[in-house]
Amino acid sequence: MNRRLLVIEDNEQNMYLMQFLLEKKGFEVVGADDGARGVEAALACDPLAILLDIQLPGMDGYAVAAALRKQATLAATPIIAVTSYAMVGDRERILAAGAVGYIEKPINPETFVAEIIQYFPPRWDKAEA
Ligand code: MN
Repeated sequence: MNRRLLVIEDNEQNMYLMQFLLEKKGFEVVGADDGARGVEAALACDPLAILLDIQLPGMDGYAVAAALRKQATLAATPIIAVTSYAMVGDRERILAAGAVGYIEKPINPETFVAEIIQYFPPRWDKAEA
């Protein structure tokens, strides 16, 4: 299966770091810097998984997750929230909106890719990582 990941993130430094870490492990990264472009890119690129920031300009991560979950073609595509939004209840809220996982920023370069991979779909062969 493909190794394409969609990263929806408006912060350039975070985007750069995630892209760097993922590409180093052989993943292809498609980036989107706001929610609307993220939804569009998800439909266009058929990603293995979607990494989603919550605080985004315009359409926030909750709205993006809800919009993605309405797309039949993306029903099996895991959405993993990557966010510094860590108020009580935020984790539950983004999981309720359709995310399967939640990773807190700051990103730990040592563990980031392994954390992401645990949320990949079952058809993903973890040995490939
Ligand atoms: Mn953000």
